[in-house]
Amino acid sequence: MTTLGTAIRIAGAVKRYGGVTAVDHLDLDVPEGVCLGLLGPNGAGKSTTMRLLTAQSVADEGEISVLGLSLPKRSKQARALMGVVPQMDNLDEELTARQNLEVFAHIYRVPRHARRGAVARALALAQLEDRADTRADRLSGGMRRRLLIARGLVHSPRLVLLDEPTVGLDPQVRQELWALVARLRDEGVTTLMSTHYIEEAERLADECALMSRGRVVARGGPEELIKEYAGAEVHEHRGSAERLAEIEALARGEGFPTRRTGPTVSILKAEQLTEPVRARLDTPSVRRPANLEDVFVVLTGEAVE
Ligand code: ADP
Repeated sequence: MTTLGTAIRIAGAVKRYGGVTAVDHLDLDVPEGVCLGLLGPNGAGKSTTMRLLTAQSVADEGEISVLGLSLPKRSKQARALMGVVPQMDNLDEELTARQNLEVFAHIYRVPRHARRGAVARALALAQLEDRADTRADRLSGGMRRRLLIARGLVHSPRLVLLDEPTVGLDPQVRQELWALVARLRDEGVTTLMSTHYIEEAERLADECALMSRGRVVARGGPEELIKEYAGAEVHEHRGSAERLAEIEALARGEGFPTRRTGPTVSILKAEQLTEPVRARLDTPSVRRPANLEDVFVVLTGEAVE
């Protein structure tokens, strides 16, 4: 049996910008072969973490290594081995899809004899074979995103960093990209994906690290986290402000986590409510399955979106 190693190791990393601590004693290990979703609201420190891993930023404290290479000292070697997909689309507008890939095959030092094959593979992955000779500025938003991802994979990296891969895209394009990320995961490529879309993490990640204020506050498989912190079922109660306050106090008094969303109070782990408590909660309510956002709110008091 082969023992899988650790693709990313972050221990006690701190990154400050003036008075703001963007990453605050962060510990994060990503085993090889895992798709890890780094989930958190805006400002949680996800992008800063990504920048530390590409050595675009240097940590003030702590140890960071990527594929066994210590950063920032060996960042050049590390960057050559990993694929990086930026949040911002920085394709070369004047080049065709194929040429954009060729440039990166060159930058990533794919050997000359292997370049044509590498570019063809990337075009296939992005499902852009029939648009290979179209200039980037003539591609649709979804096609550009697929090309951007494929560009980061042209050298068949063992590790891929995806920074908010679907931010700002419409739902249909998002679905297409999810299929692309799922394919990567199925191929066993180690992936670290930052996102503030709960559904993205729930669907794609083998494991999620919930990030808040520069730290990881919980980590585990999405289902595991939901079960542990939010249970199976959530009951959303509506009513007057006074009634909602009563429901909240009652549920909390019985040890149930709750959250407020606009005009509702939600009771988590509601499948564990006993009959007498249910009777006292007698107010119109809607039942829904618990999700990762519930976990996030319970742990941090913040909403992700
Ligand atoms: P996320 O990607 O989760 O939205 P960021 O890593 O972008 O979070 O930001 C974390 C915190 O660090 C925020 O408070 C942000 O304003 C701050 N920050 C990030 N980059 C910089 C920078 N270059 N200069 C100053 N503050 C920054």
